[in-house]
Amino acid sequence: MEKNDSKVTAPKFPEQVTGMYILAESLKRLGISDVFGLVGIPITEAAYAMQKIGMNFYGFRFEQQAGMAAATYGYLTKKPGVLLTVSSLGFMNGLTATANATVNCYPMIQISGASDPTMVDMNMGTYEQLDQLNTARPLVKAAFRCSYAKDIPSAVARAYRAAVSGRPGGVYIDMTTPALGEVMDAKDAEALFYSPVDIYSETIPNQESVDRAVGLLLNARRPAILLGKGAAYAQADDKIKELIETYGIPYLPMSMAKGLMPDNGELSALSCRSTIMQQADVVMVIGARINWMLSFGKGKWNKEGKFIQLEVDPQEIDRNVPVAAPVVGDLGQSLSLILQGMKGGKMNADPEWVKSLQAESKEKNAKFTARLAEAANLQPMTHWSALSAIKPVLEKNPDVVLVNEGANTLDDTRDSIDMSLPRHRIDCATWSIMGMGMGSCVGAAVATGKSVVAIEGDSAFGFSGMDFATICRYKLPVTVVIFNNGGIYNGVGVNPSGGDAPAPTTLDINARYNLIGEAFGADNYRVDNTADLAKALEAAIASGRPTLIDVQLAPSSGKESGHIGYLNPTPLINYTV
Ligand code: ADP
Ligand code: MG
Repeated sequence: MEKNDSKVTAPKFPEQVTGMYILAESLKRLGISDVFGLVGIPITEAAYAMQKIGMNFYGFRFEQQAGMAAATYGYLTKKPGVLLTVSSLGFMNGLTATANATVNCYPMIQISGASDPTMVDMNMGTYEQLDQLNTARPLVKAAFRCSYAKDIPSAVARAYRAAVSGRPGGVYIDMTTPALGEVMDAKDAEALFYSPVDIYSETIPNQESVDRAVGLLLNARRPAILLGKGAAYAQADDKIKELIETYGIPYLPMSMAKGLMPDNGELSALSCRSTIMQQADVVMVIGARINWMLSFGKGKWNKEGKFIQLEVDPQEIDRNVPVAAPVVGDLGQSLSLILQGMKGGKMNADPEWVKSLQAESKEKNAKFTARLAEAANLQPMTHWSALSAIKPVLEKNPDVVLVNEGANTLDDTRDSIDMSLPRHRIDCATWSIMGMGMGSCVGAAVATGKSVVAIEGDSAFGFSGMDFATICRYKLPVTVVIFNNGGIYNGVGVNPSGGDAPAPTTLDINARYNLIGEAFGADNYRVDNTADLAKALEAAIASGRPTLIDVQLAPSSGKESGHIGYLNPTPLINYTV
């Protein structure tokens, strides 16, 4: 008889347990209380087992969004977010999010049901056959396969360690059908569980590297600190604040590091990005990669300038430009040693430097405020009018976690909304992807218990919109605001053939997204002016209920590719009008 024909024998609880139970129990004993996923053969009973032992299972409509939830949860808690998927397509859908987590340095573990590997290896054409382990391998930090139930506790513990240690990232566990269904005596299973020692151990940088960095920073004439989402992730908030405030160093946050120090603080150089790049002579990069988002450290950057880089992964150093003072170690540890080294030292900075940045900020911020105010009464609304209404509401509620994706919606929201608390902004991050929205809302709400507001382009929302239903089913305090300008970038694209078919960028300017809210029992609003938008958002945050706000913008609001049009490979060929 072939293995997949075998009769299933139910285990005799409680004397006997299955691999599914061992999986649930292994996670729970490592302190994991929340799992995100989408069930089906062969993992349905694993999710039941999790609930049975008191864990929370969040069931999604699309695995990719469950994965985005797990990744966001990992980023916010420093514990791996766990994603549970079925085999084949479910695995693949989830893997997209796991790969994105690896790229963004978010700790997560994807556990996927998998066909019997002995049948996959013989290419027998078994149910949902796919060599998942090898498919996942290049996209994750580590990958394990459990062919036997006895291997599950160790695979889970090692996956946890791999996900959070060093540079965090995605880890994959191939949870085969035979292992999941294996029946064991409960006593034998109990003997398998163990508590891993020091599952997250911070690495300490060497003193010489610290001294070098301190020397450089103290002697800088025009110093700056650049904060990345690695700094937010590390939760070394007090040390960052101490370094910046004690030594009066201006700071520039990357998008998800906004709020680590207040965006509107005295030393914030948020509005002076180009000046920092062109004029700073020493830039201390804390938990950020000098990648495409920072022009690879070239071009605009001061050619005489020097980088200090606080980073956990030694391979990140010198990736695009030589780093004068790398400090390789966990940020918390590195910052403690740097603060110690700085004690008694005196900054040699030019006092005019901070003053000139402050003057520049003041001027630019005033211009920006005027721009928003001017847009407030435009009809139909633009992105800027909508943001002029949203800005004061969100800034009055600083503890709301902001999720943000889109093109113009992303750029303009990031530029408009000042953040004042760490880890309160989640966006499309390093890959600059679309399709992280609803999943990230769930992950953020579950991880923090706080209110979440997502500001979504209409295109961006489309990638994950069905999982608004998940927000509603679990009654999470999430408000989704959709900026509908009727298209990718905008809604004025024209089919260059002259035919009636929609342009590639065209979506639905007349769509009534609010009815999606109605369909799933959420509060919902459709607004076309700033006063109604502000009122709706205030009510939504106050209610703590799932809410959908459909904001009607002008189809002409927004430009192709937002702020990154320069990345279009053929900007001179422009078919759009
Ligand atoms: P941003 O997109 O905000 O610039 P990146 O994701 O590019 O941020 O960079 C974050 C960096 O932070 C990564 O290189 C990662 O290795 C590093 N990092 C993450 N966690 C820690 C930590 N605990 N200590 C030190 N560095 C860290
Ligand atoms: Mg970066």
